[in-house]
Order: sequence, then C-alpha cells, then structure tokens
Amino acid sequence: MATATAPSREDFAKMLDEAFGGGNLQEGSVIKGKVVGVEKEFAVIDVGLKTEGRVALREFAGPGRQADLKVGDEVTLEVDHARRTATRAHHSATHLLHEALRQVLGTHVAQKGSLVEPGRLRFDFSHPKPMTHEEIRAVEDMVNAMILQNEPVETHLMTPEAAISQGALALFGEKYAEEVRVVSMGKSDKSTRAQHAYSIELCGGTHVRATGEIGAVRVTQIEKKGKQNRRVRLAFA
Ligand SMILES: [Zn+2]
Repeated sequence: MATATAPSREDFAKMLDEAFGGGNLQEGSVIKGKVVGVEKEFAVIDVGLKTEGRVALREFAGPGRQADLKVGDEVTLEVDHARRTATRAHHSATHLLHEALRQVLGTHVAQKGSLVEPGRLRFDFSHPKPMTHEEIRAVEDMVNAMILQNEPVETHLMTPEAAISQGALALFGEKYAEEVRVVSMGKSDKSTRAQHAYSIELCGGTHVRATGEIGAVRVTQIEKKGKQNRRVRLAFA
C-alpha cells in the first residue's frame, strides 16, 4: 500500500486516474481513504475520465457511520498496487475484446460498461441476439491471438479529430477535451487504422506494456442484459 495526498481538485482527479485507471474505476465503486486522519470510505458517483479527468466522490456513510465530508477537507487515499497490476491487465483485455466483438458480430457492437477486477472481467455491449457457439469461439481466439503477438501497447496524446482520423473508436455525443489519450493495441494486416493497429480507443486508463502480459483468456459466460445488450464474462489464465 502506498499513500498519497491530493492537495488540489486537479491533483486529486489525476491521482485517482493513475491509481485506478479509466476503465478500472467504476461508478458505484467504494474506495478507502482518510479525511484529516479519520478512516472513511467514498462511493464513486461519476467517472468522467474519458472526457476531462473529472471524478466525483460521495462519502459513503454505511451503517452506524455519519458522512461529514466537506468541500476543502484534506483527503488521503490508499492505492493497493497488487490489485492495480491485476486490474491493469484486465482493463487492457477489454480493448481487445471490444474489437473482437465488433469484428465477429458487426460494428453495431458498442461498449456499454465494464467491470474489471483481479481474476475476472465483465463487459456489457450492444447486441440484440444471442451469440452462437462459433461466434464465442471466434472472439476468444481473436483476443488470444492478439495477446500472443505480445506487441507493445502504445499511448499518445492528440486532438479528438486526429484520433478519429487514425481510426479510434469514439463515443458520439460525448464531449471530449481538447487533447485526448489514444491507446493502440495489436497489429492486423486487415486493419484500416493507423499503423495497421488492431484496436485504437480513447482511454485514460493504465495499461500493460505489451499484450502478452494479459495472459490467455477464456469466455466463461454470455448472458442477456436488458433488451438490446449482452454481458460477457472473461476468466484469465
Ligand atoms: Zn480503456
């Protein structure tokens, strides 16, 4: 465990970003911290890391505890580095999974949410019908092929327009900052993206240095999630 103090709102958001990563810090997560020396827990109520690095926290009172966090209070958060390393690999896997689902099922597939924890990954995506056994197999094989490539994961800062022209997946209607962080992963001869990158996404999260660090993955479950969406669960070797 390491402890860091965040003296300003900007540093605080930046530290949370570095500690938990864009896709790794979920709305609804509970994180531990201290307010002027008193142990507290905070619920994450808004994660805007893809846009302007904003994170909103609400103090989590819990049974028998009172929430008394005020604007201007000094907050110290603890980062669990072992957990961070595990979630980083799984977060990188979500990028490969997203692209594999798009290639196998079609470009209607869009990420609807993900939960990344040590040992497991849950990914929700738009797809209005069940996946066949062959489709599941094809997605799994494609993700594992990209992991086996062990190509370096590259991150660059650029304007949103430049990112889109490189082939980055972007969320329409979302307001992006003037400069966005672009993460590219894997190589594919068939790719029309810059440098034949297999996946390019706008992402503020932390990632593995090379895809091989993710380790082999296995699809363990596909389930229906609402009318239009599916949820896939991955396990790691
Ligand atoms: Zn990401």
